[in-house]
Amino acid sequence: MKETRDSIVDVWGERTPHVNGKWPARVDARTVEEPEKWVQSACILCSNDCGLDIGVKNGRIVGVRGREADRVNRGRLGPKGLHGWEANQSADRLKSPLIRRKGQLTEANWDEAMDLIVQRSKEMVNKYTSSAIGFYTTGQLFLEEYYTLGVLGKAGLGTPHMDGNTRLCTATAAQALKETFGTDGQPASYADIDTTEAILHVGHNTAATQTVLWSRILDRRSAPNPPKLVVIDPRETPTAKEADVHLAPRVGTNVPVMNGLLNLIITAGQIDQNFIDEHTVGFEFLKETAALWPPERVEEVAGIPASRLRAAAEILGAARTLVSTVLQGVYQSMQATAAAVQVNNLQLIRGLIGKPGCGILQMNGQPTAQNTRECGADGDLPGFRNWDNPAHVAELARIWNVDPGIIPHWAPPTHAMQIFRYCEQDSIKMLWINGTNPAVSLPELPRIRRILEKEELFVIVQDAFMTETAERADVVLPAALWGEKMGCFTNADRTVHISYKAIDPPGEARSDLDIFLDYARRMDFRDKDGRPLIKWSDAEGAFEAWKECSRGRPCDYTGLSYAKLSEGPGIQWPCNEQFPDGAERLYTDGVLIRPPTTARTSATTFARARIGHPRSIARATRGAALFCMRPITSRHTKSPTKTIRCG
Ligand code: SF4
Repeated sequence: MKETRDSIVDVWGERTPHVNGKWPARVDARTVEEPEKWVQSACILCSNDCGLDIGVKNGRIVGVRGREADRVNRGRLGPKGLHGWEANQSADRLKSPLIRRKGQLTEANWDEAMDLIVQRSKEMVNKYTSSAIGFYTTGQLFLEEYYTLGVLGKAGLGTPHMDGNTRLCTATAAQALKETFGTDGQPASYADIDTTEAILHVGHNTAATQTVLWSRILDRRSAPNPPKLVVIDPRETPTAKEADVHLAPRVGTNVPVMNGLLNLIITAGQIDQNFIDEHTVGFEFLKETAALWPPERVEEVAGIPASRLRAAAEILGAARTLVSTVLQGVYQSMQATAAAVQVNNLQLIRGLIGKPGCGILQMNGQPTAQNTRECGADGDLPGFRNWDNPAHVAELARIWNVDPGIIPHWAPPTHAMQIFRYCEQDSIKMLWINGTNPAVSLPELPRIRRILEKEELFVIVQDAFMTETAERADVVLPAALWGEKMGCFTNADRTVHISYKAIDPPGEARSDLDIFLDYARRMDFRDKDGRPLIKWSDAEGAFEAWKECSRGRPCDYTGLSYAKLSEGPGIQWPCNEQFPDGAERLYTDGVLIRPPTTARTSATTFARARIGHPRSIARATRGAALFCMRPITSRHTKSPTKTIRCG
């Protein structure tokens, strides 16, 4: 075996300090045999998506090495990336479809399994409408698979019941970005880490969750002019131990802490008034809200010494450049969206957005969570379109050549817990779960397990392993893993990677894309002209179709192609005629790509901040203010002011 380090012992590897604002390369590798060939890919074990090559010998994966040219990792890999590929050859992989017969899951062939699924689907649609069918997906498939799932669910069946396990985490990221910027999409770039003067991690233990990103930060910290580091986390994590100032709030008090920081910065006059006047709305209200939170009150509610809050505010208020990141410590805590929005607001009042060394990363947890949200495999319509905007629905109907009426848009999309509630109430009678294990990952586990075991519910599970959820299914479909299929995925700083098929899946396992395509073909989904609704038959065809769907949208992929992505370093969206090599960061001119979300969604956040939870905390945490970036106006576009609803 060859390995550049024992990454289990030495998680982050040797320091390679930045030189003149550039992060040097360091190629990490681990192989158990000498590969016969290397196949381009990227790691799919966290939202960093580090570029790597898969080493192959005799049809088996024998190791990985980081891709030196990749913009995300410059060759580095963490312990998960260096070891995770071994899961592909686990002895307990699912190798053939299974059908429950007389209470037992028994082997079947693909025709039997798919015929049964199609027969039950048609029965449901004919008897109850397609609203009897729900889908619960993941943050771990490929872009092409999500898009195909989104089209067959939204335009083939027309069911509103589609969500992903991303609902449990990055739904907050998406909503916070929509409320501040009018659309999903991370404003910052990892390159901003290389030059920034200060970093703020809120509920984000980078050292554990994105080890290579943490290496990048440690390398800045060990180079000349290191960035200051402020960490907000109740726990004494490795990230917190490295911080210049660690704020450890009581659990559930992120909003008071953020309000306290905003108040100190505003009071000290460390704001960019020109930027606020020119590019934002609602500042006076934010100021009033934050003013309710002097450091002593924050200390009382959050348990953070006033002196320490002041020390953090001094760093965040004085830095000429600042990158803020947010993760589960916010997303899975009290008033998640309100707290995440206040982090956005800190960047806005300082005017630190759209510039080198500045911006926000409302991080993703899973490797392809961004694509779930972009491609319409969850509740949102593809391309960050809004179900409540008739123009967006009409546009999708044109792209898919279907009647707009079939695309679910008469009510908000059904969220994951409501999907399970409908299953419990028997209004959803068929649930298709792919790449996720709700029998161990959803709240109220005994109840979720009871629902999955209901006689009346037909459960399909598509996975690589016999999970606790698969054990309760009526049909189990064996799925290929990363390295066994082709496709693309997008990381937390909008970098798109291509991943080639390196080996065959075990037994009869198939890619998720092939399974969805097979289902669409057997269901005979058609467009308005009687042609097949899904007009592609492979991953590249799906990618080309997605490009058209993304055209003109914030996540514009039209400048990308499989050939271009195969050239090397990962490319950020938007990538189009304006940004042929991808856009490093968003909002470089301080102007929104699209206007903010409807007043209704902003008001919802405000309401949540005021009354969302037990009264004592509600009083304590009141105030993620209605502060966001200013929509496009005639002043910016040189054309008459347009009202474009929700981007
Ligand atoms: S940081 Fe994330 S993407 Fe990179 S190697 Fe580690 S697990 Fe994989």
